Amino acid sequence: VRTTITTAIAYVNAEPHVGFAFELLIADVLARSRSDVRLQTGTDENSLKNVRAAEAAHVPIRELVDRNAAAFERLVDRLGVRCDRFIRTSADPDHAIAVEKLWRACEASGDLYRGRYEGAYCVGCEQFVSERDLVGGRCNEHDAPPERIEEDNVYFRLTKYVEPIRSAVASGRIEIVPSHARAEVLEALDGVRDLSVSRPADRAGGWGLRVPGDPSQVVYVWFDALANYIAGAGYGTDDAAFERWWSSAERVHVIGTGILRFHAVYWPAFLLSAGLPLPTSIRVHGYLTADGKKIGKSNGNAIDPIALIDRYGDEGLRHLLLRHVRTVGGGDLSIERLDRLYEADLADGLGNLVSRWAKLAATAGIPIPEDRIDPAYGSDPRALVSEVPRHVGAFALDEGLASIAAEVDRANRYIQATEPWRLAKGSTRLAEVLGTGRVTLSSISTALGPFLPKTSIEIARRIGGGSGGPLFPRLARRPVHS
Ligand SMILES: [Zn+2]
Repeated sequence: VRTTITTAIAYVNAEPHVGFAFELLIADVLARSRSDVRLQTGTDENSLKNVRAAEAAHVPIRELVDRNAAAFERLVDRLGVRCDRFIRTSADPDHAIAVEKLWRACEASGDLYRGRYEGAYCVGCEQFVSERDLVGGRCNEHDAPPERIEEDNVYFRLTKYVEPIRSAVASGRIEIVPSHARAEVLEALDGVRDLSVSRPADRAGGWGLRVPGDPSQVVYVWFDALANYIAGAGYGTDDAAFERWWSSAERVHVIGTGILRFHAVYWPAFLLSAGLPLPTSIRVHGYLTADGKKIGKSNGNAIDPIALIDRYGDEGLRHLLLRHVRTVGGGDLSIERLDRLYEADLADGLGNLVSRWAKLAATAGIPIPEDRIDPAYGSDPRALVSEVPRHVGAFALDEGLASIAAEVDRANRYIQATEPWRLAKGSTRLAEVLGTGRVTLSSISTALGPFLPKTSIEIARRIGGGSGGPLFPRLARRPVHS
């Protein structure tokens, strides 16, 4: 099946943090697990948050946005994420065209009207908030009090789409994973009201896309940002691409839990209004914390993902985040823990297995069979090749890597137990033991492909007789600067 996979687009009010790296990696593994696929990510630049951040830093907004967007693009590259389109909402002309077309389509459906808003607004969320969104007068997500606002806006008839969306979610036409996220959406649908989709341009400091036909208003940043998904697929600019990569493809959004409502309620409503196909799947991952706290500059624990790549390598970091953070449940990071896991899983575990086997194979003095498994090995390692994709399909990437790690352990124990270095060179028993190791390594290499693409290729090369240094060198004890 042809598939478009997207991450959420990132705010560029600050440099990327490791949470976005986690999301990119999840989406990359889903994409690399399929053949006819397109992966899209990007930056959400038309936000009031960015205007505020630029004011605070005393730099022009354009400069701040360009600088941080470049840092996000660099991160995609350094992580080894195979991305087909990096979309920038304030800089890419095709995005502005798609937003205008989507707006006009909603207008043509009679779903936009003028209204006056009085109430609270959370700049962190970029949304109006009601009393029930607040805990002790503060936004639960941002732990900050909202601003009071009174202004004229364009409203979108969200209430008109509550029942169609409820039926799409309940029937699984929009599949929401995990099931508690699906339940959360169904519950949120009960409290839906019409949605303001514009802001006075002066409150936005003139930053943002103008409302078509009304330059005194800018398009609400979420309406603008969500449109990136169809803009990148060619909406309004390339009909053939749009048919191929949106209308007739699976459409999968990978997002964090905090923005579920925007993707599972607002976004489908805009699409329905415009007569466009809905997402087929919304996959909701958990959050990373560091030393037990939510990661962020304000908590003083922002972890720079580039520093982690410098320390563990791109493939090392891919392993650590995808294996030791629950895909759905999230998890906690500390440098001490990551160091320990790197040494145990990669330097000692996988790296050691590959180098031991390669050394033994090089001096075996007999051809090593490609399809024989010693009954004493206890299981068929080839099962890994179908087992791991099942975990990926169930959105438990951590369990996929746990299965691979278990196979690495079993193989290391098998070598320990059979002591091939004591077996006679050229003997059939040695060939059987090393043949078992070969089948195991080859299954590990295949199963690892979407997770650690370079390591997967390198293991296959070593099986074929290629030589080289350790796959995962021991850590030099250098501090990580965040
Ligand atoms: Zn908030």
